[in-house]
Amino acid sequence: MNIHPLIENLVPYRPGRPISSVQKEFGLTRVIKLASNENPLGPSPLALEALKNALSDLHFYPDPSSRKLVEKISQHFGISALELALGNGSDELFDQLIRIFCNPEESILVSKGAFSAYPISAQAARVKAIEVPLKSNFEIDLEAFSKILSEKKETEKIRLVFLPNPNNPTGILLDPKELKKFLSKWAQDPNLLIVLDEAYHEFVRDPRYVSGLIYRKEFKRLIVSRTFSKAYGLAGLRVGFIACPTFVVDYLNRVRKPFNINLLAQVAAYTALDDVQFIHQVCHLTWSELDRIYLRLQEMGVNFIQSSGNFYMLETKRDIKDVERFFLEQGVIIRPVDNYGFKTWIRISVGLPDENEAALSCLKSCFETLPVKDFT
Ligand SMILES: *Cc1c(COP(=O)(O)O)cnc(C)c1O
Repeated sequence: MNIHPLIENLVPYRPGRPISSVQKEFGLTRVIKLASNENPLGPSPLALEALKNALSDLHFYPDPSSRKLVEKISQHFGISALELALGNGSDELFDQLIRIFCNPEESILVSKGAFSAYPISAQAARVKAIEVPLKSNFEIDLEAFSKILSEKKETEKIRLVFLPNPNNPTGILLDPKELKKFLSKWAQDPNLLIVLDEAYHEFVRDPRYVSGLIYRKEFKRLIVSRTFSKAYGLAGLRVGFIACPTFVVDYLNRVRKPFNINLLAQVAAYTALDDVQFIHQVCHLTWSELDRIYLRLQEMGVNFIQSSGNFYMLETKRDIKDVERFFLEQGVIIRPVDNYGFKTWIRISVGLPDENEAALSCLKSCFETLPVKDFT
């Protein structure tokens, strides 16, 4: 059989290791997972309560239009219900957008050192991912994006642009002025769609940040994505949504599976939106812990990046395989980000205070134990 080279060479997404697999391999009872930016406070308690009541309905298929959830999101975020689409995680929506709007051999434009789900979905659809290098300060280089679009949009048939704001794994925001300039130039182009991925929106505290939602009236080809996986604590149920033009909703409704948002996911996401208190609690914990962690990292002389997400990235200057193993042996799962081009860096999610303490003390002993290596 003739397998397309993009499929043949596809390297699957590298998820954080599950707790149970680390317990088994290293013979540990207590393992802390700080590898997938999950919510350390668990799911919203209101959502949990609603889930218990929904369990007796599990013999029914879910509402294929997720009507109640769509209406709730519409009210909550001030987005027309006709301009909303739900996905089994926002990653399903990215995948479907690529399948709908890019034909094989066409392209998407992404940043190097950015969320890897976009190029993987592209490759699976036999679509090329053109990668723009980061700036030397690790910011996404919107000027370089613009230059490539000016020069190669037609020849490379670039159809979709993915911009995570803030970026994962760096936690860095797009420059608000550059973003507006970029959108005014490209988010009105009839042959392009721009996807702003705001998975960590709730955690952003930089006063200069603006959500893409406010630009949607002005820039008609802009799509904004959000997720219930991070601040809402519902990663295991898989719900994300996009605010997008109605014609995008229409195509998604043709392509998607009829029951892509399962019954429990609909109930939990719906109820979690009412739990405003919980989101505040999650953000305050994240922010106060990040501030404390930064101080500790400074004391230790560690090179790290100030994050707008619920995670932080730091340079270990050591062999990354050894570092990962060192953490695992101590029962702490972190994320090496060498596959994003950050050779000796790791990304650690913000957990509960004692979990963060465990990660920091592990980092300290890791630095004392493993030799510094020069990778430049
Ligand atoms: C975690 C994350 C998402 C959310 O993915 P889901 O499929 O909704 O769980 C999206 N984008 C980025 C950049 C992320 O880090």
